[in-house]
Amino acid sequence: MKIHNYSAGPCILPPDVMRKASEAVIEFNGTGLSILEMSHRSKEFVAVMDRARALVKEVLNVPEHYEVLFLQGGASLGFYITALNYLKTGGKAAYINTGTWASNAIKEAGRVGEVNVVASSEDRNFNYIPKNVAVPGDADYLHFTSNNTIFGTQFKDFPKADVPLICDMSSDIFSKRINVADFAMIYAGAQKNLGPAGATVYIVNPEMLGKTGRDLPNMLNLETHIKKESMFNTPPVFSVFVSMLTLEWLQALGGIDEMEKINNAKAQLLYSEIDRNPLFASTTAVEDRSAMNATFVLQNEAHQSIFDEMWKAAGISGIKGHRSVGGYRASMYNALPLESVQVLVDVMRELENKV
Ligand SMILES: *Cc1c(COP(=O)(O)O)cnc(C)c1O
Repeated sequence: MKIHNYSAGPCILPPDVMRKASEAVIEFNGTGLSILEMSHRSKEFVAVMDRARALVKEVLNVPEHYEVLFLQGGASLGFYITALNYLKTGGKAAYINTGTWASNAIKEAGRVGEVNVVASSEDRNFNYIPKNVAVPGDADYLHFTSNNTIFGTQFKDFPKADVPLICDMSSDIFSKRINVADFAMIYAGAQKNLGPAGATVYIVNPEMLGKTGRDLPNMLNLETHIKKESMFNTPPVFSVFVSMLTLEWLQALGGIDEMEKINNAKAQLLYSEIDRNPLFASTTAVEDRSAMNATFVLQNEAHQSIFDEMWKAAGISGIKGHRSVGGYRASMYNALPLESVQVLVDVMRELENKV
């Protein structure tokens, strides 16, 4: 049976990428070696790393002087790396708290220095995005989370501030056009819109680094990795390779603008059914609803077991909501086709006819 994979992460990747990745596990590019058993210093793998980094720049139209890195540790280490590399000794950083991941970022930064939470949506269980946030002009940077994977909200307009912007874009990077030049640094775990878990992409304006007065361990110092072209130590080779394939897939599909159109069509299809169908309700403020992770609940809990049976029978996987929100979460990352969203919408309509 065809599975419609709505998993929140790790999550769906394009079938074509899976096929090429599996071929390369057996033999990479006629080398007689698997991608998993060749030196990361071989000219073949160096070419993969270079191409993956170049494709990030191409797809997102990244300014020439910015650097792209593929590091390990996940976005969760990115929280700490952010503070270590940008929060000056004796300085302070501004954070917007829009959910679990943003809260984790705040906690990690608090180990490094002073953190000022300038806005939060915790008062309503993170179901909206704070607007018109005032940021102190003497903050070293403003950190926010562009898409709140768990609570299903997304910044439609990025906050404006006179201080450098740093963003955790783990769950909506490569889903729509952004202006990278507005950011000092963007980071994202690969396992939502890019590839398998294991790599974290950093897009860095190097001009903003080296100002903290802090002696950093090599592995947590972005300058080390920039100097070594993302090869200071053994990179997560397979994750980088598959990320490269996904970016090639995205380019072939028509690039970021085409991707954004498809993502908007998917979100529109699902949210209009949630709004239309009297059995369901959205859990988030309408203007802040995420195009990547749609969270919704049944109006009547008595319908849960029949609805659960129906979507499972239709081949849908991974729409159980996160425990902190309950209900359902449909993650519609780049690789999820419109047809899969149609299948879910059809099941929601059938439920309405049935009960
Ligand atoms: C998944 C996710 C994370 C956590 O990423 P790890 O790579 O598991 O550390 C952080 N931020 C956001 C927005 C996420 O969606």
